[in-house]
Amino acid sequence: MISKTGIQWTGGTYNPWYGCKKISEGCKFCYMYRDRDEGGVDPSLVIKSKKETFERPLKMETQTLIFTCSWSDFFNPEADEWRPEVWEIIKNTPHEYQILTKRPERVLQCLPDDWGAGYENVWLGVSVENQARLNRIDILKSIPAKTKFASFEPLIGEINISPAQIKVLDWAIIGGESGNLEGPYGFRECKLSWIEILVEDLEEYNIPIFVKQLGTHIAIEYDLKDIKKGGNIKEFPPHLQIREFPNGLRYVDNQIYL
Ligand code: SF4
Repeated sequence: MISKTGIQWTGGTYNPWYGCKKISEGCKFCYMYRDRDEGGVDPSLVIKSKKETFERPLKMETQTLIFTCSWSDFFNPEADEWRPEVWEIIKNTPHEYQILTKRPERVLQCLPDDWGAGYENVWLGVSVENQARLNRIDILKSIPAKTKFASFEPLIGEINISPAQIKVLDWAIIGGESGNLEGPYGFRECKLSWIEILVEDLEEYNIPIFVKQLGTHIAIEYDLKDIKKGGNIKEFPPHLQIREFPNGLRYVDNQIYL
């Protein structure tokens, strides 16, 4: 068993740098922007973490599933100088690294020389928030990686994914947008039917699916107790209570087992 964070589909987060520039619709209510804003720091500045944080995976003895760059984008151009050192850390630690990006067009130029068909312990994913961003999966198709995934969160529109795009994926995360009820960091609508359509399409090809949260809009509409995120799986409709992983990982009683 590995420890878990508030993000149910990972065991921990690792941020060798912080900050990012918004690049697509999904960034509108970015939680990193909200949290950095509240902390009085300019979220658009990309800042290298202090040494202890930068090297944290080297000190973690228990093998962990790590969401890498949860407060930035791993392929952010402003981090090009620091990335080679992180690849070395990734290569020399036993952890599984989940790298999710909105900049897949930059991946090929940022891979290490010995990447080959992909490091065994790297899961490479793209964010797809609406139909217009489905092309990120087409770009992912052309990148060698051992495990490929897509995060359909925040899901802000109906997505009709093609069989060819589904076949690129080893895993899919789905979630409605969560946000504050008041103030500048809100949330957008996610219809239950948008989640259902994706689940149905992906299930047809036996892609492991992780339904993370229904989002604030559905939580309000259906009067869920988790009003902030709609993230309690027990409150999901039974046919959406799906939390699966690729690579033999299991999710039992809110815990991930490697
Ligand atoms: S790419 Fe990710 S981290 Fe960067 S602004 Fe968009 S949502 Fe935030």
